[in-house]
Amino acid sequence: MKDEIKSLKVINKFAILGGTFDPIHLGHISVAEAVLDKTDVEKVLFIPSGKPPHKELECVSNSDIRLDMTRLAIEGHENMEVSSIEIDRGGMTYTVDTVLQLKALLGNDAKFKFITGADAIHDIKTWKDYKLLLKICSFIAVTRPGYNKNTEAMEIEKIEKKFGCDIEFIEIPPVDISSSQIRQNISNGISVDGMVPDKVSEYIFKKGLYK
Ligand code: ATP
Ligand code: MG
Repeated sequence: MKDEIKSLKVINKFAILGGTFDPIHLGHISVAEAVLDKTDVEKVLFIPSGKPPHKELECVSNSDIRLDMTRLAIEGHENMEVSSIEIDRGGMTYTVDTVLQLKALLGNDAKFKFITGADAIHDIKTWKDYKLLLKICSFIAVTRPGYNKNTEAMEIEKIEKKFGCDIEFIEIPPVDISSSQIRQNISNGISVDGMVPDKVSEYIFKKGLYK
């Protein structure tokens, strides 16, 4: 078992932030900080996806690059960790498989939740085996600029009622950043200052990504 997974055995509760992270940005970091601040979660585990079924593959950077950027982004953040579990598994990435794998590795009583932004929880019914996923894993849904807080709360309530699942809804400080916007800015020669951690921006420009 990899060290970062082993270290979770001694943590009472952690939360997964899954994403394409192409690139990881300050919105993602702020989601993790807000979850650590507002819930009883003790550590946030960033899991960059392998092949994400929801995204057009040609738009997604190589997994090693996304993993490197995620590692750089959380440097110095004590309660954040990165796992390559989805990249190492190969094939299409489905969250349900990751949750089952983590339970197999850590034991069925391991306490963890899965974090999603408003856009992702909105799409949950398109995820593989979402009914099973909602049954075996609790969620934390956070607000995201561009999505109405009240509509999101109502939608979450409906999902909870229908599937008998547990989704903790938290309002977080809005950070209006997306990876798509960053990719678009770079390809148009527009600055991404203040959108990604400095080390990530150095990495992007050194590698000439998104041009
Ligand atoms: P893209 O524009 O390529 O879809 P993204 O910015 O949405 O990128 P993802 O890697 O798709 O980033 O997102 C991973 C997770 O983080 C998702 O659950 C998403 O909802 C959440 N998230 C991303 N950015 C924010 C943000 N600024 N505020 C709240 N949640 C966010
Ligand atoms: Mg997205």
